[in-house]
Amino acid sequence: MDTLLQGAAERLRAAGVPTPRLDAECLLAAALGCNRAALYGRREVVPAEAASRFAALLGRRAAREPIAYLTGIREFWSLPLKVTPAVLVPRPETETLVEAVLDCLRASASGPLTVADVGTGSGAIAIALAVELREARGFAVDVSPGALAVAAENARRFRVDRRVTFLQGDWTAPLFAAGLAGQLDALVANPPYIPTAELAALDPEIVRFEPRLALDGGPDGLAFHRELAATAPRLLRPGGWLALEVGAGQAEAVRALLAAAPGLAVHPGVRDLAHRDRVCLVRRPEAAG
Ligand code: SAM
Ligand code: GLN
Repeated sequence: MDTLLQGAAERLRAAGVPTPRLDAECLLAAALGCNRAALYGRREVVPAEAASRFAALLGRRAAREPIAYLTGIREFWSLPLKVTPAVLVPRPETETLVEAVLDCLRASASGPLTVADVGTGSGAIAIALAVELREARGFAVDVSPGALAVAAENARRFRVDRRVTFLQGDWTAPLFAAGLAGQLDALVANPPYIPTAELAALDPEIVRFEPRLALDGGPDGLAFHRELAATAPRLLRPGGWLALEVGAGQAEAVRALLAAAPGLAVHPGVRDLAHRDRVCLVRRPEAAG
């Protein structure tokens, strides 16, 4: 088996895959229907059927298809989420966003919370929040019906489907239509933020396989942050939070546009955004607004 893995890793290395041995092991485990750790003690030869599944997966990985689309699973917030090419593969930096929102809500809000995740993709953010906040109800929006189908399946898988409602449409429009104006304790999003002209230079895994709809943030990458800054104040309840993921190097610009948005104020008690420069957090003031 080690020869099989070595050959596979060589092939992936030659194709430019950054972690060839690890990927070969993941794919062999997927082909055998076991986990990667189980490969180590294994002595039996790989059965022919599994070997041909492995060869097919290897070919796709050598063409730089993301490993998560090949295995159909990516862990996020310790939840093994289903992923398909209809959704962005959830990233670790988005766990920082979830953590930041939980910190804010736990410090500032009480009672049953209402939270929304706009551009939900696999449902990663909405589902992680619902799992953590057992009393909360959530709303998850995406424009892509294919993404919403995956997100809804994930919500069922992690038993939060009774508390998370999936809405199809353009950004916050479905939230207004659902009567949520002034109701949200938190509006959270990881919007597309790659400047259009930079898309072509991304790794092949991203640019060839992930949905362009999940990546393209317009000419400067901030089209959707602007859109959310403009509509969030009318959805948040006084004291409610807007939390946005931003691309590397974008935090300063997003902070400036959030500071300029009427009805939002950076709360002085929040841990400085500079410490988590992939997350921007602002709050609707408690009193007026
Ligand atoms: N929230 C997921 C995550 O963090 O893994 C996915 C984030 S992905 C960067 C952005 C998502 O926004 C995609 O699922 C895409 O379909 C969705 N999207 C793009 N344009 C949209 C629009 N106009 N209205 C609502 N969702 C949109
Ligand atoms: N995190 C993605 C990347 O690899 C981008 C996702 C997004 O645009 N929000 O660049």
